Amino acid sequence: MPEQCGRTFDEVLLSGYLDDALVQGDEQRVRVHLEDCATCRTLVEELAAVREATMSSTFDTPRDHEWPEMPRTGASRLAHGMGWPLVMAWVVLFGGYALWELWTEAENLLEQLILVGGVSGIGLLFLRVLIDRLDALKTDRYREVQK
Ligand SMILES: [Zn+2]
Repeated sequence: MPEQCGRTFDEVLLSGYLDDALVQGDEQRVRVHLEDCATCRTLVEELAAVREATMSSTFDTPRDHEWPEMPRTGASRLAHGMGWPLVMAWVVLFGGYALWELWTEAENLLEQLILVGGVSGIGLLFLRVLIDRLDALKTDRYREVQK
C-alpha cells in the first residue's frame, strides 16, 4: 500500500468517486482525503484521463451510418478493413470467371453485347460503392489524426 498516503479506503472508491457512484459517506471520505493527498489526486487524474480516452474512442469510432454492422474493437475493425478488399477481389475474380464462361458460350454478337452491357453496369455500381468506401476510410483516418 502507498507509504506516505494515509488513505483508509480502497482504490476502487477513487474510481467510484470519478463516476459519481459513491454513497454520500464514501464520497465525502474520498473528497476529504483528496483535499490533502496529492498522491491520490494524481491517481484520480490518471484514472480520469484513462476513462476519457476510453470513452472518446468508444463514442468517436464508427459513426458510420451506411455500415451499421461496423465492428467496435480494433481487431474486428482490422478484419472488417481486410474483409472489404477480399470481397472486392472475390467479386472481380468470380465476375471475371463468370464473364469468361458466358462469353465463350455466347452464340452471337447480340448475346455478347447484352453480356458486356450488364457486366459493366454492375461493375460501375461496385466501383461507386468502392469509391465511397475509400472516401469514408480517408475521413476515418483524418478523424483519428485529429484526436
Ligand atoms: Zn492518498
